[in-house]
Amino acid sequence: MRAVRNIRLCTKDCLCLYVCPTGATDTENGQIDWSRCLDACHACVDACPSGAIFRVPDNYPPQQEKKEEILVPLRALLAGKARQELAASAVLRDERDPALLQLALALKQSIRVTAEDLAREAGYMLPQSAAVRGFLRSLLEKERPEGFPEEAVKRLLELLPG
Ligand code: SF4
Ligand code: SF4
Repeated sequence: MRAVRNIRLCTKDCLCLYVCPTGATDTENGQIDWSRCLDACHACVDACPSGAIFRVPDNYPPQQEKKEEILVPLRALLAGKARQELAASAVLRDERDPALLQLALALKQSIRVTAEDLAREAGYMLPQSAAVRGFLRSLLEKERPEGFPEEAVKRLLELLPG
């Protein structure tokens, strides 16, 4: 088991920096340094007031198999959520009314949470799953928009087991 930090939850209280016996929590990129994280330790998880640090296993169990008749509607729902999120983003970009902006932001966030659940159910949760590798490869095979993080996708493919 190793510790990971969810940057989105981290409020920079820095308690994890003080309690870590190896300095693994003190890195420039905000990620915990697994080469220094101790297997039996839990200190940063207990200290973090924001619940931003989790313990995860070094190796995950295999992804559960899903039947195609489940996957097809799941993917369709996921695509629908992506379109809805784009629509909410367009409102956020173009709208000036504060009430509508607040509504669009809440909608966007709730759509994203649902989309993440659907993605997990569709098999994109575990890093070693074939669905994740297939998805990343498919991104490199398509025409890529400006700013597409090609190097990051290639690096992920190198790092993912399988
Ligand atoms: S203790 Fe938690 S909130 Fe504070 S810096 Fe560490 S991860 Fe972030
Ligand atoms: S689990 Fe322990 S060793 Fe690993 S980062 Fe947290 S405090 Fe440091």
